[in-house]
Amino acid sequence: MSLPNIKAVRAFFMGGATADKGKGKGKGGADYHDQGSKHWIDDHIATPMSKYKAYEQSRQSFGINVLGTLVVEVEADNGVKGFAVSTGGEMGCFIVEKHLNRFIEGKSVSDIKLIHDQMIGGTMYYAGSGGLVMNTISCVDLALWDLFGKVVGLPVYRLLGGAVRDELQFYATGARPDLAKGFGFIGGKMPTHWGPHDGDAGIRKDAAMVADMREKCGPDFWLMLDCWMSQDVNYATKLAHACAPYNLKWIEECLPPQQYAGYAELKRSVPPGMLVTTGEHHGTLQSFQTLSETGVDIMQPDVGWCGGLTTLVEIAAIAKARGQLVVPHGSSVYSHHAVITFTNSPFSEFLMTSPDCATLRPQFDPILVGEPVPEGGRIHKSVLDKPGFGVELNPACEMKRPYTH
Ligand SMILES: [Mg+2]
Repeated sequence: MSLPNIKAVRAFFMGGATADKGKGKGKGGADYHDQGSKHWIDDHIATPMSKYKAYEQSRQSFGINVLGTLVVEVEADNGVKGFAVSTGGEMGCFIVEKHLNRFIEGKSVSDIKLIHDQMIGGTMYYAGSGGLVMNTISCVDLALWDLFGKVVGLPVYRLLGGAVRDELQFYATGARPDLAKGFGFIGGKMPTHWGPHDGDAGIRKDAAMVADMREKCGPDFWLMLDCWMSQDVNYATKLAHACAPYNLKWIEECLPPQQYAGYAELKRSVPPGMLVTTGEHHGTLQSFQTLSETGVDIMQPDVGWCGGLTTLVEIAAIAKARGQLVVPHGSSVYSHHAVITFTNSPFSEFLMTSPDCATLRPQFDPILVGEPVPEGGRIHKSVLDKPGFGVELNPACEMKRPYTH
């Protein structure tokens, strides 16, 4: 069966530090941290920078939103286009247009694994174990899967082997688990607001937040804490024990990604039954192999950052062999099509991007058209039954193509 070749790859960005100011259209998109003021996602959330007073209140103050959205478009020689979005902005555009393009153009739309291996190998001398380069490779990989699906007229999840469940069920990440419960989600994950530099008072305040939500949400609703790399093993252990009386289900990303020994120690130290999770800031398959060996309960790769869908499938296999769960970090449709095919992904994350968590807004709003949100905390697989990832670019979003080749 003959398939078309890839004629062109193009990279665009929206938002970030080099976007045109004042147009008001750069907010959100794949760089979902780039939100307006008075948003829960930038309200005194604990980070590795919180120990500096100047950067304690706002993550935008230390530059969490400088990258902006990267959009990669691939076009087959029959005119069909695929695309994907991730975080990477203008710098990602350079990597795609000036480096990765050589591995993409001229190949068949089904040469995804070959292109992926050449992108990984060709950037190994400057990619490190994750970060911007891996975000960019991920975005290209997702665009290739989207194109393949659109060329053959099938949703990506069917290309991966098909669904193992009829619907996805979601927990919600945001500041208001009590509101998430009303929307039908199975749990709520809150950011921590305090860290080791705040001492035991910080632990008391974040534990009090969990206690308050336990009271509001009843005994069985899942409650979790996301610590965004802000802690050390001792602090995380004490916080976990302080939250045990309120049946905290898991404690997430307590430590920086490279502290594998710390994660192994934390896993041994938390109260019995409480889960230890992490992974959204890890990149490359090898990182997840090492992370898996620490014994964390759930690995949480971001499909837009870990190396793409091709790598996520491999990570899921590593986890499956150990009996671990893989519950990807947010990522909307790019995760949905993967996890509905994974036997070790029984639930998914929905990231609340509405400022007060009182409405359901698509995670990558406004850049995707057709991006579904859960209804009653669920998305049925029939919602995914559109070619590729089932979404289109919003033509109202102004994007720039800073480089060509
Ligand atoms: Mg997280």
